[in-house]
Formats: sequence, C-alpha cells, structure tokens
Amino acid sequence: MSAIPGIFQPEVESRPRERLVALQLERLRATLAHARSNADYRRRLGPAEPGDLRSLDDWSRLPFLTKDELRDAYPFGLTCAPRESIVRVQMSSGTTGNPILNAYTREDITQWSEVMARCYTAAGARAGDVVQITPSFGLFTGGFGFHYGAEHLGLTTIPIGAGRTGLQLKLMEDLGTTVLVGIATYPLRILEVAGEEGFDLGRLRLRVAILGAEMWSDDLRRRIEEGLRLTAYDIIGMTETGGPGLGIECAARAGIHVWEDHYYCEVVDPAGGAPRPDGEEGELVVSTLTRHALPLIRYRTHDLTRVVSRGRCDCGRTHLRLDRLRGRTDDMVIFRGVNFYPRQIESLILRQRKAGHEYQIALDRRPGGSDRMTLLIEAGPGFAQDGLAQLRRDLKETLNLSPEVTVLEEGELPRPAGKAVRVVDRRQGG
Ligand code: ZN
Repeated sequence: MSAIPGIFQPEVESRPRERLVALQLERLRATLAHARSNADYRRRLGPAEPGDLRSLDDWSRLPFLTKDELRDAYPFGLTCAPRESIVRVQMSSGTTGNPILNAYTREDITQWSEVMARCYTAAGARAGDVVQITPSFGLFTGGFGFHYGAEHLGLTTIPIGAGRTGLQLKLMEDLGTTVLVGIATYPLRILEVAGEEGFDLGRLRLRVAILGAEMWSDDLRRRIEEGLRLTAYDIIGMTETGGPGLGIECAARAGIHVWEDHYYCEVVDPAGGAPRPDGEEGELVVSTLTRHALPLIRYRTHDLTRVVSRGRCDCGRTHLRLDRLRGRTDDMVIFRGVNFYPRQIESLILRQRKAGHEYQIALDRRPGGSDRMTLLIEAGPGFAQDGLAQLRRDLKETLNLSPEVTVLEEGELPRPAGKAVRVVDRRQGG
C-alpha cells in the first residue's frame, strides 16, 4: 500500500460537510448574481434571484446550460467580466460549429493554479519532483493547466508539450522525470516508441502519472502502470470548467474528489434531467462557484458518472467523490438494439494477454439495410489460437455482441496526435 500523501489546503479540503454545503450555497447565490450581470445570461436564467435559493435543492430548479448554448455564445456572448479584465482565452473545437471558448480573468488563472496544485498534491507530487508536461500548449487547456499547478507548487517543470516521443524519453532519463502528465492514451505511445527504439525503461525514475482528457479503463491503467512502473491517477476537467483540475483521485483511489468549494456537481437522468440518487449513474452537471469570466450554471457535461460517496475519505478529504467517467451520453453506441460504450470493449480486449491496446469499432450499413459491426484490434503472434476465441466469448457473454473481429499486426491502426478515435460510424445515409 502506498502512503497517503499530503493535502495542499488541509483546512478546506477536509472541512466538515455541513460547513462545505453552507459555503456552496453562499457561493451559488453569488454565482447567480454574477451571471445575471450579463443580459443574455439573465434572459436564459429566467426570474430566479439569489434570494430565492434557500437550500441546494432550489438550485435544481434553474434551467440547464448546454454545449450548444456555449457554442452559440461564441466568442464572448455569455462572458460576465469586462473585456479589459480578460487576460486569456482557451477553447475546444468540436467536429461541427463554433468552438467552445472560455475566457479567464487574472482571478480565474489563480483559481486554476490552486485547484491544479491540489491535484498534484493529491496524486503524491512533492517538493523535488520533476514534472514532464506532455499535453499540448495552446488553445487546448491541458498544457497550461498542468504548468500553472506545477509552478504554483514549485516543482521542476519540463513544458515539452505534445509529440516528439523519442525526445520525451531522452528528457525523462536525462532530467530524472518523476511525474508524467498527459492525455490518457499517450503513455501507450511512449511504451511503443520505447519498444521500437530498444529504450530500457528501467533507467527512468517515474513514480506518478496524472492522466485525463479521454475515457480510460481500469485495464488500460493496469497496462500503463506495469509498463512504466508508476502509479497513475485519473484527473477530470474540461475547457468549460476552466480546464483540468475539476477533480482527481487521491492515494486511496476510491473515486475522484471534486473540489466542492469551487464546483457544485449534480448527477441527473440524461433523458429527463431529473436528479439521480447517489450511487446511480447519470449525466454530470457542473456549476462553477468561483469562476469570474464564464460562470457555469447547471452545465450539462455529457459525461456519465455516479456519486460514490459524500463521506470522509481514507485520505482525510471530505470533498465529494465521483466514479471514474464511464462514457459520454453522446458516445454511447447503439447497435442492433444493444447499448454499449467503447470503454467496455476496451476492457475486454485488454484482458487478452497478447492483444495490443489499440482498437477501432467500425459500424457499417449493408445495402440491404442491416448493420454490421467490425472490431479491429492489434495483436502479437499466437493471439489467433487462444485469445481470439476467448475475446469473442467475452464480447458475447458480457455485452451480447458478436462483431466480426479483424486482427491486425501491432502498429497497423493509425495513431492520432490527439485523442484516440475509437468509433467509426458509417451507418448514416447508407
Ligand atoms: Zn481521498
């Protein structure tokens, strides 16, 4: 068992729940008042005034804020801070329409640094650590978020950004990197390149990885941890909430702590929007409590999770724990009436010893109108004899799926520079 690491802001991170709730209510009122300072925001909020909020339950009567509304508000439609106080913008681009833009005041950057410093500390980073930052620096929030947090803590920071995996390995060795931060699937690329170049991973001093921005299964985590000989922590956050830093796992790894003095989370039925009881899966809805330029009021994230606990954790923190994100409401695949998420398939693939970590799910419509699913995987020699039959059995028994399985050699599937593409759906218009 690893030791429970320190806590960055012990008083607030371990504050008793009643006092945390009182603080949230006060900050929700302030957030509502602040959002109402923007005429467009006020119009969509309706008549609710801060004084109407007597308990947290009253908050759930406010309308949801959707991704489409944020896209429509591009660039500054819902911004609640004077333009001259904006020191920075970050944005995320979808496949269609306007990007979602988040603006930051100086206070927002400070808030971001603080929650990221908490995240690093929760993952066991400490003075003397060398942090290699592998998400890109730019409009994507990953690079800068990790950078601010590491600097705030006074860690040694290597802001290398994305790609150049050979150089990443060299710097990890030469500079003695102990903390690797990145997009969840990037360590797999590092392992591949190390294999190709005959790089001895035993020469590295890595101890901790902080990974996020993609869904990643427990089985994928196990592969990364064994391959790089470290402990990997799941971090969450998105452009809309201000970037990574919404929450992270602690050493207990019994859920993701969400920083409740900065964010108020609800889990709702993705269809009707009604609150889901603790323990039941639903869509994560986030309100920000301390963001100035773009306060979020009941923002629908599309991420699926559940409340694991509101009790005190073994690490001493009292902040709400969410389950690791299980999928997104918009990446659930429905195939011949069966619902599943790509991560469920990933888990089954990674359980086969000789199977690689890359995969792709292709969905096609045949001329007659029936749908076909092909699962493309990579595997080493010897997989076809035992692993393939087992994988087919697992897919049938666990998910009731019988896809055609195409086994490719390792390295055949494309490796995108950013997030992995797991589903190619060509059924539309077929
Ligand atoms: Zn904890």
